[in-house]
Amino acid sequence: TKAELNKFKNRPTETADGTKKLIEGNIGSPNDAEAVIERGGDGVGLFRTEFLYMDNDHFPTEEEQFVAYKKVAQTMEGKVVVIRTLDIGGDKKLSYYEFPHEMNPFLGYRAIRFTLAEKGIFRDQIRALLRASAFGKIAIMFPMIATVDEFKAAKEFVELCKKELDNEKIAYDKKIEIGMMIEIPAAAVLADKFAEHADFFSIGTNDLVQYSMAADRMSQNVAYLYQPTNPSILRLIKMTIDGGHKHNRWVGMCGEMAGEPQAIPLLLGLGLDAFSMSASSILKARSLMSKINLAQAEKLANQALECETEAEVLKLVDNFIAKLK
Ligand code: PEP
Ligand code: MG
Repeated sequence: TKAELNKFKNRPTETADGTKKLIEGNIGSPNDAEAVIERGGDGVGLFRTEFLYMDNDHFPTEEEQFVAYKKVAQTMEGKVVVIRTLDIGGDKKLSYYEFPHEMNPFLGYRAIRFTLAEKGIFRDQIRALLRASAFGKIAIMFPMIATVDEFKAAKEFVELCKKELDNEKIAYDKKIEIGMMIEIPAAAVLADKFAEHADFFSIGTNDLVQYSMAADRMSQNVAYLYQPTNPSILRLIKMTIDGGHKHNRWVGMCGEMAGEPQAIPLLLGLGLDAFSMSASSILKARSLMSKINLAQAEKLANQALECETEAEVLKLVDNFIAKLK
């Protein structure tokens, strides 16, 4: 019931055996942060910044962005706020900018591919993020990273912007974390190498599933292939988590899967550290986690990794959940 769930608002996020985890909120505008605080979220695991660009008639200035990012940082009262740099392109277009016509926009000029090519636009955003980091605990996250070179280029660009701010004597968090989304299978497979450079990973299953299964996330015709708990996806998630942990990086997930009750026991068993979801799922997820023993979840995950089909995995999970008290 609602009253029972509300008890979890001020409880630490932990498994039945006391292993600490984080449950955070996904937000799309600064105002959404309130809902995450109201539900007792441990932070913001994904702030999609596209709204600043889409609900606008020009690329937002550094100052406009600074105000928005600062507001979220302050609302979250020192809890971590992972802010993702612009993920435009694909299906998300701008009224004031003409993207090149492509046969497959989802495989085309978007996200980090766009911002690395449009350094002026990237610079305004990075400077705004750095300046806002003086007012709370902001982390910067790059979307759609496919290669180590891309990540290094993006990170070097942040270093450049930091030097600018140093010269201008403008404050920012000198220890700001810089991480990346894992949403392209190539990055998941090479996670241990990325982890030498990135401070953290956040797995974007919405795209990771679509790219792994070659099944458009918007297409009803191939929706049957869209299987987040297919053993193949679980293995990619495992590679990502193991690769990150090898270098002591925290690994989160901000795709829809992170808030799915059937996925949570599996993700715990695979070793995921942070779960970011819509605010409305936070209390339910924390309640579920509190009933799960980590060693048992690990056993479940290991069985799931050896399954042939998603249906087999879901059967294992349903049995597991039915036995929880
Ligand atoms: C994802 O791909 O899982 C993700 C969180 O990003 P978006 O849904 O914005 O593509
Ligand atoms: Mg994505």
